Amino acid sequence: MKMQIPEKVKYIIEVLTSHGYEAYAVGGCVRDMILGREPEDWDITTSAKPLEVKKLFRRTVDTGIIHGTVTVLLDKDHYEVTTYRLDGEYEDNRHPKEVSFTSSLTEDLKRRDFTMNAMAYNETEGVIDLFGGIDDLKNGVVRCVGSAVERFEEDALRILRAVRFCAQLGFQIEEETLKAVKAKAGLLINISAERIRVELTKLLISDHPDRLMTAYETGITKVILPEFDLMVITDQNNIHHAYSVGEHTMKAVGEVAGKSKDGRFPTRERTILKWTMLLHDIEKPSTKSIGKDGQDHFYGHQEKGAITAKKILKRLKFDNDTMEAVEHLIRWHDYRFVLTPAGMRKAASKIGKEYMELLFEVNRADTYGKNPNQTQEKYNSLNRAMELYEEIKNREECVSLKELKINGKELIAAGFKPGKQMGDILSQLLTIVIEDPAMNEKELLIAIAKNFMPENAEKDSL
Ligand code: ATP
Ligand code: MG
Repeated sequence: MKMQIPEKVKYIIEVLTSHGYEAYAVGGCVRDMILGREPEDWDITTSAKPLEVKKLFRRTVDTGIIHGTVTVLLDKDHYEVTTYRLDGEYEDNRHPKEVSFTSSLTEDLKRRDFTMNAMAYNETEGVIDLFGGIDDLKNGVVRCVGSAVERFEEDALRILRAVRFCAQLGFQIEEETLKAVKAKAGLLINISAERIRVELTKLLISDHPDRLMTAYETGITKVILPEFDLMVITDQNNIHHAYSVGEHTMKAVGEVAGKSKDGRFPTRERTILKWTMLLHDIEKPSTKSIGKDGQDHFYGHQEKGAITAKKILKRLKFDNDTMEAVEHLIRWHDYRFVLTPAGMRKAASKIGKEYMELLFEVNRADTYGKNPNQTQEKYNSLNRAMELYEEIKNREECVSLKELKINGKELIAAGFKPGKQMGDILSQLLTIVIEDPAMNEKELLIAIAKNFMPENAEKDSL
């Protein structure tokens, strides 16, 4: 099998082999090449020791010398070159006690997680596939290299990675590996939140996020996201809903931001949207009550859910930006837009312009997962809300204090006393301008402000 690899990767391999070392592209990039996917990064494995690698290239970074990794910089690109490695005995289901270098490619491939990730390639030898990786790729299965139970005991993160790869590639987990996933899921308790966050996010932003249900069925979410399990077992008997909380959630997660290739939302926004949909009804189980109308209600689940979502994301060591955005979108996810220009300006003022497009998408995905009889009607309202908002943006109408044609300093210059009242006056002016954009004129606003504070008006008239 001959494949296209980037010139710079070829160059690194050639430099190494011409100095008597072995070198191959390895792991995820070989898998992706065979699948015809664009690899995220190109890793190189070599028999050369880190110091030997460093000698051969002008610009290098000591990324993880102890683990054998040197990053080679070529122009603006960088490639990780790692010495053939042998992982020693594992502690705590995650850390090899020591790593040692080996001169055997076979040993290096054996330590890798799945057959599809354990292949190497170079131009002279083609694909080195010692564990049936190509067949597994053809058949769409994720299979551990060697004994699945042992591999999961060594590093339990692999349990979640198995599901993540299924979600990214639309694959199934091979039978023995699946048995081991179920048997060993509990070991994920030993894995750091950061590593779990990375895998869960990759799973969610993939094209098959519904594979999260595999994580549920195998007992993985019970360990890493127990709140999700509660949603799965919560029914909702309500005219707006046709599905349980769990089913509704998964439909909304699948729908939001579309397929990855659509490119409608960059990765950051996609991540925020997927996590928002996953967690938007997280407090429905705890707020469920049956009303006099015989329907299930979930009063306050939006606010309570926003707080819980933030706690969950904090536990998973998310960055503040993502955490705040998800919290905010969940808080507002059920907001009913008033379909008038003033109604939409009010919405934008409360929600914040930077969140409006994301919230529209949340609303669309949420609707998609509700009662199909009402979908069209709800989409029509949403489209109208989006149109109205677009017009507000085009007319550059004011919806926030910073867009108001007057500020505190200017009020002081016009004779107002600094102090707490100033803030109240400004927010009253904003309310007026949101109602009627024509009022956003400095002189007009000063005149109105004076009306609010007669003592200022008197002083002025003296
Ligand atoms: P991605 O496309 O998300 O980068 P990847 O397969 O390249 O997927 P990485 O986490 O970048 O995944 O790891 C690169 C390679 O290192 C993998 O293909 C696999 O061979 C090996 N590897 C990574 N994590 C583990 C692990 N936990 N256990 C065993 N091998 C691993
Ligand atoms: Mg990779």
